[in-house]
Amino acid sequence: MKQIMTDLETMSRKANAAIVSIGACSFDENGIQQKFYTTVNLESCIDLGLHVEQSTVDWWNSQPAEARAAWQVANAPPLEEALNDYTAWIKSVTTSPPAMWANGPDFDLVILKYAYEAIGQEPPWPYWTHRCVRTLKNILPTPHQHQGVKHHALDDAMSQANLVVQIMNARGLQFE
Ligand SMILES: [Mg+2]
Repeated sequence: MKQIMTDLETMSRKANAAIVSIGACSFDENGIQQKFYTTVNLESCIDLGLHVEQSTVDWWNSQPAEARAAWQVANAPPLEEALNDYTAWIKSVTTSPPAMWANGPDFDLVILKYAYEAIGQEPPWPYWTHRCVRTLKNILPTPHQHQGVKHHALDDAMSQANLVVQIMNARGLQFE
């Protein structure tokens, strides 16, 4: 199975959160393979009824400018275009159901499911391939340093993928 790590940056912690960026990478025991990154136009999410909460807006305002700059761009594509690009990227990586990792799936992958529903589409993976970084790192604690900009969706996804690879390699484990 292809392994895919996804991280979102959002404007809410609810399942129907508005999304501002999607970062993802495919990986195996040898490390990171292909990468994906897109910003998302926030207004397009709001127009589709997705959620923005003030506490998350305030939290973003307290973050370093470089983290905000990753998604505060003038030409962010609307949600439908961003999700279509993400779907196309997943399909370019694998034609069979990928193992879909996130930290954890109940945040990023559930928010993506709502976003797909908002544009009238199904997510391009089945619900039963969700994989949880939080579970793995809790059961098998491993010292790890974040690489890149914290709360940059692609840097977060790559750091999480590298952590999973590190945990697997340290114990001689293979992906199914
Ligand atoms: Mg993140």
